[in-house]
Amino acid sequence: MNSLLRIVNFGRMIKKVFLLLALAFLFQSEGNAQLLPWYYEVDENFLLGKTSFESDGRFSLVSSSGSTKSCYLLVEVNGAFEQMAAAAQKEGVILKVISGGRNFNMQKAIWEKKWNTRRPNFKSDKETALDILKYSSMPGTSRHHWGTDVDINSLEPSYFASGKGKKEYDWLQKNAGSFGFCQTYDNKQTSGRSGYSEEKWHYSYMPISTVLLNQYNAKIVYEEISGFVGSQTAKEVEMIRAYVNGIAGGCNTLTSP
Ligand SMILES: [Zn+2]
Repeated sequence: MNSLLRIVNFGRMIKKVFLLLALAFLFQSEGNAQLLPWYYEVDENFLLGKTSFESDGRFSLVSSSGSTKSCYLLVEVNGAFEQMAAAAQKEGVILKVISGGRNFNMQKAIWEKKWNTRRPNFKSDKETALDILKYSSMPGTSRHHWGTDVDINSLEPSYFASGKGKKEYDWLQKNAGSFGFCQTYDNKQTSGRSGYSEEKWHYSYMPISTVLLNQYNAKIVYEEISGFVGSQTAKEVEMIRAYVNGIAGGCNTLTSP
């Protein structure tokens, strides 16, 4: 009888140990999943801009007071922009988003309109693509797809050269970094980067866009940059190396606001 009791007790003890181990494992894996925010694991469609901002809860509408037209940003980026705009306003500088998230189809419309207008002016598809790429992205390769990037106040280089525009630009140069934002397309001559011309209006929320760029480089291949007129030039013009990765070196250090 005694030995039978001992065996039963031993069996119960083993069960308890297994239960505890199972619980410990469960808590640990939950803990790991919570360590990294969602944007550390996104799929190819997200990276290529094949998203619907209206129905995707990761994006939210920029407030009408913070933008000149209806547009979406990632929820986190929207919050960071609002904080930056509020700080700027206290110093008499008004910052408005004139363009935020643009998905694949929106970029396709911009690209194809330019392609159809400009193609007759050039000898080859490659030359046409390079001309459009001075300021506009190919669908599937734009940072605007991610909801991390904003165009602020004007798309005219001359606007930021003097007066009100210069004051806004100077404020952003001094303060944007404290809110996580960086001018990704700076002066190519001085920074030595490749790709797009200087865009004094384009700022990226680096704490998230840095993580997304790493995933873009790991997951996207040229065959996936397709589905629009002129897409066959993507490899020839080195879209991924020269443009997607052609950002200001100083921005890469800004991974937390
Ligand atoms: Zn832009």
